[in-house]
Amino acid sequence: MKQSRMLIPTLKEAPSDAEAISHQMLVRGGYIYQVSAGVWAYLPLAQRILAKINRLIRQQMDKYDGVEMTAPILLPADLWQKSGRYESYGDNLFKLEDRKKRPFLLGPTHEETFTTIVRDSLKSYKKLPLLLYQITDKFRDEERPRFGLLRGKEFIMWDGYSFTVDREGLDVEYDHMAKALRAIFDEVGLNYKVILADSGTIGGKGSQEFSAPAAIGEDTIVYTDGGYAANLEKATSKFTEKQQLGKPGELTKKGTPGAHSVDEAAESLEIDADQILKAMVYIAKDGQDESPVMVLMRGNDEVNEVKLTDVLDVDSVRLANDEEIAAVLPAHAGSLGPVGTAGKLKVIADQHIKGMVNMACGANEDGYHYINANFDRDFTVDQFADVRNVKEGEIGPDGFPLKFTNGIEVGHIFKLGTLYSRAFKAQVLNKQGKATDIVMGCYGIGVSRLLSAIAEQNNDDRGLIWPTSIAPFDVHVIPVNVKNDEQMKMANEITAALEDEGYEVLIDDRKERAGVKFADSDLIGLPLRITVGKKAKDGIVEIKLRRTGETIEVKQEEVVNNVHILLKQAASDQQQKD
Ligand code: ATP
Ligand code: MG
Repeated sequence: MKQSRMLIPTLKEAPSDAEAISHQMLVRGGYIYQVSAGVWAYLPLAQRILAKINRLIRQQMDKYDGVEMTAPILLPADLWQKSGRYESYGDNLFKLEDRKKRPFLLGPTHEETFTTIVRDSLKSYKKLPLLLYQITDKFRDEERPRFGLLRGKEFIMWDGYSFTVDREGLDVEYDHMAKALRAIFDEVGLNYKVILADSGTIGGKGSQEFSAPAAIGEDTIVYTDGGYAANLEKATSKFTEKQQLGKPGELTKKGTPGAHSVDEAAESLEIDADQILKAMVYIAKDGQDESPVMVLMRGNDEVNEVKLTDVLDVDSVRLANDEEIAAVLPAHAGSLGPVGTAGKLKVIADQHIKGMVNMACGANEDGYHYINANFDRDFTVDQFADVRNVKEGEIGPDGFPLKFTNGIEVGHIFKLGTLYSRAFKAQVLNKQGKATDIVMGCYGIGVSRLLSAIAEQNNDDRGLIWPTSIAPFDVHVIPVNVKNDEQMKMANEITAALEDEGYEVLIDDRKERAGVKFADSDLIGLPLRITVGKKAKDGIVEIKLRRTGETIEVKQEEVVNNVHILLKQAASDQQQKD
């Protein structure tokens, strides 16, 4: 392919708003073009990578009898009203109307669509299992679209849906998809972790996320050297109750004027933040019911809202606002505590405060705290539970210390069970001829996000370094001086010889200075570069490996053989790196 006929608008400078390296490099390398915030055009080089990723995905789907189809992107609102997600999905849902003012939405995911199609297309268990998938654009009105393709309003997702007659069948399909995703992420050269994920209140026991460690990642991955990995919402640590020593002192109210935070209160009371009970009021929502709950934990622990939601067994929780607090307690956030709350609201305490004595806590009076507050004598707790975020260094469930890293969620697999089939009455007749709810799993890969995640992990200060399996071309051929007939002829011959062997070659036939060509070549980041320069007259060219910077000089007739060996080597270096 001639570079002069491509569209590769490379830039010297990164856009000023580009925080992520992948965002900077993909824009500078002429891979992507921003049409609007979070809305991107995939320019020809990115298009080639996407095609390769999609090919690898399809190969894995073939292996597990997945079948491809396409659902519409434009969906009638009633489809989503039926599942309840037209309301519950929130502001991320793109809503629109047709000319007759009928409400529609742009699909952010397709559980509803596929459940309906399958319901209406088959009646007997004999047609199951069925694994359907598509690779299409999804739409989410993200509050903060950013980091280039990592968080877009329109993005490409592979989404798969499995349909089985029972849970055992689901386990098989789920296991297949777990294997398929591992294979896909291995093949694209991604460094990733498979982590236990929160399955929310949907109640499925299985949910795993595939997360690519990267500084820019928006998720916190908690892992150990023993192989445990979970996202922060789900991560647990070993808990052993510590009985504090000391005789209960006298409950005493102290002025803590101007102390709003735990640290300010600790300073004012001249005690450790860990000796303070942080009290937060949450509103727990279950169906139409809303009720206030007080959550207690050590001063420097953080509430984990996902765990809290699970412990309370409700649909969702959120922090109470001033008015909601005022409705139950006569103080503002910062002066709240459990003393005197009996009968007013439920109190949930993190397990780590079990066994503590002489705690300090807000006095439910602005500007005052108690010291020497003690369980049972001064207040009671309805339930002790794990409702806090774990911390780095704590001992994980497998006995190894917890480590933290940031990660980019690139894939997610999920045992849905019968949640959607029940809502849509998607049933089949089982072996006994009895109507039974179809059991479902859903699976997703952020394809465009994956491209960016790979870029985020594979670059240096000069540009991108694509893994060989997905690089837009295998080889970049650079005639240094296109006006030199000898160089041009040789570059063309080498390109043709490589293409004959099935390699994909980009030849830089532009009338640019050598420095510009080399800089662009580094930026674009193809695995191998062949420079045809002054030594062309002796029949010699230089081959350079983008990842290592290693160069070798070879004769023209040895180029194909060397490319073969070097690309293989580059591919295996890549695998070893992981
Ligand atoms: P996130 O927590 O990052 O918002 P999610 O958990 O809401 O993602 P899923 O509903 O699990 O996303 O979607 C499946 C996959 O689609 C995700 O694993 C991710 O790779 C990708 N994805 C989700 N939202 C976006 C987005 N705004 N831009 C690009 N890819 C996305
Ligand atoms: Mg997800």
